[in-house]
Amino acid sequence: MGNCKNITRLLSDALDRSLTTGEWVAIRLHLPTCSGCRNYRKQIRLLRVAAHSVSGIETMDGAARDE
Ligand SMILES: [Zn+2]
Repeated sequence: MGNCKNITRLLSDALDRSLTTGEWVAIRLHLPTCSGCRNYRKQIRLLRVAAHSVSGIETMDGAARDE
């Protein structure tokens, strides 16, 4: 519970399925402590947005200055 490998897997899974309450709790406890996983979440969100957008490259550029 709470290690980065597990958390990033859950973040990825969340795009494809509903997470359990316990899984969300693990993510919510971990993200504030871990910039790596926050960045990962940001990236997969952008990938998801890009999949629905023609202008994916612009979206990525916007993310670069977000943090
Ligand atoms: Zn982490």
